[in-house]
Amino acid sequence: MSAIIIEGRTAAAQIKADVANKAQEYTAKWNRPLGLDVILIGDNPASQVYIRTKQQACMLVGIRSNVHFLPSSTSQAEVLTLIHQLNVSPDVQGILLQLPLPLGFDAQPLINAIDPLKDVDGLHPSNLGLLLAGQPNFIPCTPQGCLKLIQLCADKIEGKNAVVIGRSLLVGKSIAALLTNASATVTLAHSKTKNLKELCQNADILVCAIGHPGLITGEFIKPGAIVIDVGISRVIDDQNNSILKGDVEFESAREIAGYLTPVPGGVGPLTVAYLLANTLLAGHLQQQQS
Ligand code: NAD
Repeated sequence: MSAIIIEGRTAAAQIKADVANKAQEYTAKWNRPLGLDVILIGDNPASQVYIRTKQQACMLVGIRSNVHFLPSSTSQAEVLTLIHQLNVSPDVQGILLQLPLPLGFDAQPLINAIDPLKDVDGLHPSNLGLLLAGQPNFIPCTPQGCLKLIQLCADKIEGKNAVVIGRSLLVGKSIAALLTNASATVTLAHSKTKNLKELCQNADILVCAIGHPGLITGEFIKPGAIVIDVGISRVIDDQNNSILKGDVEFESAREIAGYLTPVPGGVGPLTVAYLLANTLLAGHLQQQQS
């Protein structure tokens, strides 16, 4: 058996096309474009690449994007001041604090300071609370992308056994909440979990958000399972090339899984597409409130 490989690009292109149309309508109706402001602190190379990708995507759908590049010597108080300025700016519909932050910063108070109606990453406690309550405004982008991919593979999610590995707010916990809301029976595994392999072998849906390249081999996978690989790590291959690798060992997993997402090209494109969709949603929510 060889798994069906589920690319995220096609679904991402459809979401972006829809956002592009609606962003144009927004601009015409309100006489200003949607604006997404990104705060990047420090010089993390992976974050710089992600931000370039997000900026290009914004440009293609007609969303104005502005990146605030701050050196890691910036103080937490200065970042807070910037967030307060962006919160009150009528030109800014979405605010994204690029994670992870350099050592010395405390991310949570900064996330808490973002206006929940501009929180396009969906990480503000109010938005996470709404997600838990099953009435989300903003769903964090990567988890939303995972759910979309699962929906493309599964006839139904209800009643399925789902194992999510990784308990970060950004990814694992939010995916677990989304799958719970969709009536799956969810196990949230993490670095302290015992018998990870046995748990995974019982999963109809397996989501890996660890950041440990190739940890999940075919042996972990239930025959026919849906396997979503969120992990992205940069590694050096046999030919001494720097490549991106997921948490799932692709070759052994594809022999067992029913559906498998590649890295790159699986979840990543949907993360970007849902950031654009959340910026559009932010614009509409703010207009409703004004
Ligand atoms: P994180 O470091 O915050 O969390 C990692 C989680 O993995 C933790 O909860 C930890 O308990 C768990 N873990 C670590 N080692 C483990 C082990 N041996 N067994 C079981 N669990 C283990 O990372 P994150 O921000 O959640 O990101 C996870 C991965 O997803 C990273 O590779 C990141 O680059 C990737 N990511 C991808 C996208 C995308 O768009 N595709 C977006 C965000 C994150």
